[in-house]
Amino acid sequence: MQLYIDGEFYSREDAKISPFDHGFLYGDGVFEGIRAYSGRVFRLSEHLDRLYDSAKTIDLQIPLSKEEMTEAILETCRKNNLKDAYIRPLVSRGVGDLGLDPRKCEKPTVVVFAVEWGAMYGDLYEKGLKAISVSIRRNPAESLPPNVKSLNYLNNILAKIEANYKGGDEAIFFDTNGYVSEGSGDNIFVVKNGSISTPPTINNLRGITRLVGIEIANELGINISERNMGYYDLYSADEVFVTGTAAEIAPITLIDGRVIGNGKPGAITRQMMEKFKIVVQNEGTP
Ligand code: PLP
Repeated sequence: MQLYIDGEFYSREDAKISPFDHGFLYGDGVFEGIRAYSGRVFRLSEHLDRLYDSAKTIDLQIPLSKEEMTEAILETCRKNNLKDAYIRPLVSRGVGDLGLDPRKCEKPTVVVFAVEWGAMYGDLYEKGLKAISVSIRRNPAESLPPNVKSLNYLNNILAKIEANYKGGDEAIFFDTNGYVSEGSGDNIFVVKNGSISTPPTINNLRGITRLVGIEIANELGINISERNMGYYDLYSADEVFVTGTAAEIAPITLIDGRVIGNGKPGAITRQMMEKFKIVVQNEGTP
């Protein structure tokens, strides 16, 4: 495995980051998760836009242009001979003395690596995932919006831990107003009476797969809209599914012990999953 660090490639054994990197010390940095399908990188420019917007929000200047970052990502895939991959670019504030002040860091650290990747949830695409709504809440008044894909994912990790303890495959966040926010690593969609709803993105990550989901629903002629939803909407849904780069489109068939629909992935979810497979195979940056 060859990893890109600040313009050079290193083997997994030789790849080193300083313990004084503020990404490690304080979670000060941003990242992306991107997929390649059949040797083509899916929605690369959208992921790069989000990476640079995340960086801008935390006042971090990425030392590469988007074109240079594109090349670093494509070269990482080529060097590792990867066709179906999960690609992880990260940019941290860089190495500096102790103390939160970003001015202590001379230059950001840029890392890109990629691993072979198949279907994340295995047979759960057929069976459906069990989801747990977690006690940790998204707070719209919090300073760091969830649309920043920052190196500090502790809220999401706490959500995952709670879901794990309660026997769930995925966690569902609510916000402090009681509205459905998102999963620990994916966005949420609810199907009721043939129409799909998804929460607005003020309080969750603006998922790129979420947008693909909306496009697919439109292409299939299924009514889709953004709206705030509560527990009632989830528990009484006909179908629920999540979208994410890693998860793709995955059905949820049990939430907090409530069986969703008939307990099997529903017809609309299946249609969306099928179409998604076609979309990812038919586009991308070679
Ligand atoms: N929500 C969170 C918290 C995530 O980490 C992710 C994964 O990137 C998503 C949603 C889904 O976003 P995307 O479809 O861009 O991968």
